Amino acid sequence: MPSPITQNLDSLKKSQKLDSEIHHARMLFEEIPAQRAQLKFDLELEKTRLNELEKSLKDLQLKLKEKELELSQKETQIKKLDGQLSQIKTNKEYAALQQEIASLKADNSLLEEGILYAMDEVEAARDEVRNEKEKFASVTKTFQEKDGEAANQEKDLQARLADLKKQREESVAQLPPELGELYNRIAVKKQGLALATVNGESCSACQMQLRPQLINEIRIGEQIIVCENCSRILYFEN
Ligand SMILES: [Zn+2]
Repeated sequence: MPSPITQNLDSLKKSQKLDSEIHHARMLFEEIPAQRAQLKFDLELEKTRLNELEKSLKDLQLKLKEKELELSQKETQIKKLDGQLSQIKTNKEYAALQQEIASLKADNSLLEEGILYAMDEVEAARDEVRNEKEKFASVTKTFQEKDGEAANQEKDLQARLADLKKQREESVAQLPPELGELYNRIAVKKQGLALATVNGESCSACQMQLRPQLINEIRIGEQIIVCENCSRILYFEN
């Protein structure tokens, strides 16, 4: 009488090997979208940083322009008042106008200090933007390389998975239909590990000690014996 397990062991082991490769490839494949999302996130973060620095530079430039405008308006005002001085009739009015001019000049001297300070700020912000632009360019380059690699890997794995699945179907098709179905059922539940060797007196997959009767039946090999604990198909590795 033919012994199903020994007769079909090669196909079973081949199917299991393929299933294990499929499982591994699928895990790698499923990790890729998260890896690509992380790369995208890192890039966006740098982009946000650059945008913020550029906005802060613009704000500082605007603030500087406002101060410069205020200074030029006050200088115009001073010139105008200086021109009026010669037409003043009374000492009192003359003194009041001089007072006004002196006060405007004092404002301008503060404004000039403020402008120098603002110019330094603009210069520093411009340096920061320049550095961040360089960094962003380098991060963008890295992103494009790594994301390109990931996209290629994704495509390769997809093709490899399709190929492995085809090989697996062919391998399972070598089994008698009932055994093929049993194998498929267990493989689905056990992430592609439907077979387990007998290790001493235990199932090598779940370490459960096997009854001597069961070990005997596996050794005889006339029927398919599954582990009473993890349901995997048991066999002796010769
Ligand atoms: Zn087991």
